[in-house]
Amino acid sequence: MMTTEISTPIIGHEQAQRLLTAAVRTQRLAHAYLFTGPDGIGKRLVATRWAMAINCEMPPQKDFGGCGRCRACAMALAGSHPDLIIIEPDGLFIKIEQIRAVQVSLGFASWSGARKIILIDRADRLNQEAANCLLKTLEEPPPASLLILLSASPNDLLPTLRSRCHLVRFFPLDEDQLTPWLIAEQSWSKEEAALVGAVAGGCIGKALAVDPSALREERDLIDQWVSDSCLARTGPDQALFRLTEGAEAAAQTPEQFERTLRWLLLWLQDVVRLIVSTNPAGALPRFPSAQRAARQLPISACSQLAVQLHWTWRASFRNINRHLLLEQWLIALREACLGAPRRSQLQEPTAPL
Ligand SMILES: [Zn+2]
Repeated sequence: MMTTEISTPIIGHEQAQRLLTAAVRTQRLAHAYLFTGPDGIGKRLVATRWAMAINCEMPPQKDFGGCGRCRACAMALAGSHPDLIIIEPDGLFIKIEQIRAVQVSLGFASWSGARKIILIDRADRLNQEAANCLLKTLEEPPPASLLILLSASPNDLLPTLRSRCHLVRFFPLDEDQLTPWLIAEQSWSKEEAALVGAVAGGCIGKALAVDPSALREERDLIDQWVSDSCLARTGPDQALFRLTEGAEAAAQTPEQFERTLRWLLLWLQDVVRLIVSTNPAGALPRFPSAQRAARQLPISACSQLAVQLHWTWRASFRNINRHLLLEQWLIALREACLGAPRRSQLQEPTAPL
């Protein structure tokens, strides 16, 4: 565990912090917890700080986390507390040997006389053998032990494992929480922070992994492409050529396709925000072309386009031609923007195109 990880301030997750603080203060801890929420949202940070609070030598603190000053907290902050064991995938999976080592360790008394805490990060990566082995520990948990499983895909865990854990859900941060923090801590501009926060889906870990200037360049390319393909009234042949060319490039790989759909969804959100804003001049769009689209698109078309974008995403899982799916959506957007009679009505695809 990196020292910086545990000492990083926790942003958001107030509900989880309240629940976990109350469990420490009232000494009503379950034997096993399952923290769920998207990757990069802060589950591991909250778990390590909670572990620090549980084994803190001072009386339970009012705020989340330990006192930060006692011997146990100092070791936790240094990432060397002997009663906190962190397990994560070794390669692709968490293997049975790792869980057996945990079981051996749980057989020994804790260093401090407090709890032995086992944190299993990406618990959905337990392979079958390891999961069955861990199940035995959960069925008969050793006294003074605590297991914290973290997972972004809890449905991939054995149901019998899931049902033995107390569930704590983590939700993406609101834009109002994340954007000011990114501006203050990363010295990013409001525009960069808003863009990064939106692309990171409210997950602080994902936001910190983003290079804002590279993201801005990608945003500019998408913005120019949508503007040339769907908003330009002149040169329809050229616009359709740009539309097809861009859709083809975006459909090259499933990852690129999904990323493009996410960008288009953000673009559409911008348009809707501008349309419904009581102060459009004060609303800061993440895409310059959204201003123009907001003047052209009726709000009813926006909701229909949002639904169609979702269908496009879902249909892509069924081996339907991604290029054609995206092209269809963009043509629908172009027609809605230019107010032309609808030549094609998108339906939820039911068969390969
Ligand atoms: Zn302490």
